[in-house]
Amino acid sequence: MDKRVPFLDLRIADDAERQALLQAVERVFRHGRIVLGPEVHDLETQVAAHCGRKFGIGVSSGTDALFSALRALDIGPGDEVITTSLSWIATANAIAMTGATPVFADIRDDLNIDPESVDRLVGPRTKAILPVHYTGKMCDMTALMDIAAQHKLHSIEDASQAFDAEVHGRKAGNFGIVSCFSMNPMKVFAGCGEAGMVVTDREDLRDRLIRLRYNGTINREECVEPSLNGRIDTVQAAILVARLPGVAQIIERRRQIARWYDELLAGYVETPRESPGYRDVYYTYTIRSPRRDALKAHLEALGIETKIHHPILMPHQPAYRNGVRGEFRRAEQLVRQVLCIPMHEKLSGADVHYVADCIRSFSRKAAA
Ligand SMILES: *Cc1c(COP(=O)(O)O)cnc(C)c1O
Repeated sequence: MDKRVPFLDLRIADDAERQALLQAVERVFRHGRIVLGPEVHDLETQVAAHCGRKFGIGVSSGTDALFSALRALDIGPGDEVITTSLSWIATANAIAMTGATPVFADIRDDLNIDPESVDRLVGPRTKAILPVHYTGKMCDMTALMDIAAQHKLHSIEDASQAFDAEVHGRKAGNFGIVSCFSMNPMKVFAGCGEAGMVVTDREDLRDRLIRLRYNGTINREECVEPSLNGRIDTVQAAILVARLPGVAQIIERRRQIARWYDELLAGYVETPRESPGYRDVYYTYTIRSPRRDALKAHLEALGIETKIHHPILMPHQPAYRNGVRGEFRRAEQLVRQVLCIPMHEKLSGADVHYVADCIRSFSRKAAA
């Protein structure tokens, strides 16, 4: 079997796209404003506008966006932040690195945080909730914002996987006091290196984030609080500005591939469902199977690369499991079943059919 379907393909094979990106980088080389150049401001303005926010602050990564946003809200030692059990570990690390304690809520079958679990976990030390729009699907923001309002908690979106996702016409990045994005090369809106963004409507937070981004300094020399260097690279910003107009098309293509998978895989495995009023962007297309490990091996033997996001729940990580607080019974069940199958805009219709055929042949074999 020599057919191969890679999980991701980060090459830029399209000549026009490659030329456009090279030109964007060349412009930076020519104007020479390499550090916090004009493209950074352009990107901040455009991403903020896209999310319906007043301000964008470009930073060095999604992890840094989360860490800086939490610090800007004065979250630190003695505080608790409630987040999901199932995410990339950066979410929990950003909380822990402020000195605060992450508290892990359970998830629902759509793999997003369960608002009822969040509500049960709110305690006297809780300062914020940090929902993650996992797989590119928005969380139940109505319920979560209600809980935040009721208990006077900050809400911080981890929208790293969900740029341009929507719920009832409202975009990821528009909820709560601050929202965070990653634009690392794997994301749907991606640079060619590390990059992140915080968006907010609060001017005081914007100012604080700008000084946190550069060693806590308020002018070239005066440091008013300890911090690290988290500036976004101008070359990455230039690439992202060049890519932003094409993101809508990338997402349309991903959504089309998702509809094909939905149809071809119905009745064979659990497929992700888009709820009414939601617009999912399919950072991953995550199926579920009770025989997940055998299915993964079957697909691998047929040249199809898949991934398990993320095999170790955050509260089970060696860094967190001692004395951990949270609820994750459903997450423990679901994480044993999840499998991310190839989902990117470069997949052909033939690739999608091949992947689906191979999953169907596994299910038939299992049934026989
Ligand atoms: C990618 C990602 C991050 C971290 O972003 P980086 O830019 O890699 O630091 C954080 N949270 C989630 C949910 C992510 O998917």
